[in-house]
Amino acid sequence: MHQENNKVKNIAVLGSTGSIGTQALQVINNNPDLFRAYVLTAQSNSAQLIEQAIAFLPAYVIITDDDKYPVVKTALAHLPVKVLNGHRAITEVVTHPEIDTVLTALVGFAGLEPTIAAIKAGKTIALANKETLVVAGELVTDLAKQHNVNILPVDSEHSAIFQCLAGEENNPIEKLILTASGGPFRGKNSQFLADVTRAQALNHPNWVMGAKITIDSASLMNKGLEVIEAKWLFDVSFEQIDVVVHPQSVIHSMVQFEDGSIKAQMGLPDMRLPIQYALAHPQRVKNTFKRFDFMDYPNLSFEKPDLDTFRNLALAYEALNQGGNMPCIINAANEVAVAGFLADRLGFLTMTTVIETCMQKMSFIKKPQLADYLNTDKETRILAQNLIKQMPLAAITI
Ligand code: NDP
Ligand code: MG
Repeated sequence: MHQENNKVKNIAVLGSTGSIGTQALQVINNNPDLFRAYVLTAQSNSAQLIEQAIAFLPAYVIITDDDKYPVVKTALAHLPVKVLNGHRAITEVVTHPEIDTVLTALVGFAGLEPTIAAIKAGKTIALANKETLVVAGELVTDLAKQHNVNILPVDSEHSAIFQCLAGEENNPIEKLILTASGGPFRGKNSQFLADVTRAQALNHPNWVMGAKITIDSASLMNKGLEVIEAKWLFDVSFEQIDVVVHPQSVIHSMVQFEDGSIKAQMGLPDMRLPIQYALAHPQRVKNTFKRFDFMDYPNLSFEKPDLDTFRNLALAYEALNQGGNMPCIINAANEVAVAGFLADRLGFLTMTTVIETCMQKMSFIKKPQLADYLNTDKETRILAQNLIKQMPLAAITI
């Protein structure tokens, strides 16, 4: 084993109070000889952030909601923990020389700028925040190459592909096959989807996750975002990325090579495994997580995704095909639509209408720079919000 593999890695956990963040802290807690939580950040959950800071004693704690800053600062005043506030603080602190790996587990577009800052500072990225690669995949992967930085996937499908590719560096990929659980509405038709409630959509059959990704999973937008994420992580064309619905969620994804051979990565649906794989890479670390037993799964099944009913997935393929700022548009429109659905302002299918209208109405930029992405995100959000405001009540079918 190399010397450097034995060093304790300092991890910045961005979004430590979320679903990925808390599971990452379990992994860190299980392996104090390998990892230290060096930075913890949250948006507004001050109580949980304080609890985590007391337990892990990170060098830095950041809360982006300014109103919550005083309570966090006071609660941690007696500890050797620096408390900061605001988004800018995240982007600055991730460049700290002591940090080895930045785990991006915050939600949505907010992940982009801290990730870019961390890459420029040469940090290894453990990427959960898929929206970063959806919004600006070309820019971010180019930067990573320039700075010789590894972007290690945390998303279970991409971790599976990454694991299948180990040792295959010189073997071209014929096809990536992303598996999808199909979410809570698999097999349902548009008539059914028109009336589904927030509670129904939040009830994912196989995974417990944050609200935004859970809605994305129900609408298949999550799979669309993952197709775009896969394109940039593995440098393939969109025609080389297939999606197969696999309701049991035990095959996490597959790679087909040029000889037709397919490698799959399997395991129980437990995000701690891909998180641990990304944090410890290139090592595998022994753990006590529950093991997969084939006898518990005598029937693994596969279906074609229903792109006519779940149109978000088709729209994501279209955005990827068009390129430029189109994936950034689809991401911003989707973030606003999901927030609208979660606030009972929008019906489930109307989310797709908002996204499609934004794709049609926003100006297309073929070769966007960072400023164009920031602008596209801002303008798409305004457009999407206006569309929601103007919608007749009949479109809101909750
Ligand atoms: P959660 O909603 O559970 O947690 C999000 C975390 O980020 C929280 O700590 C939250 O703080 C913080 N946060 C949210 N918005 C902002 C913002 N605008 N600025 C700063 N901090 C913010 O999300 P998940 O853990 O489910 O998902 C995180 C990312 O990982 C997403 O990009 C998702 O797509 C991806 N992912 C998640 C998987 C999962 O199993 N959950 C699987 C694969 C990918 P607070 O608690 O204070 O609100
Ligand atoms: Mg996934």
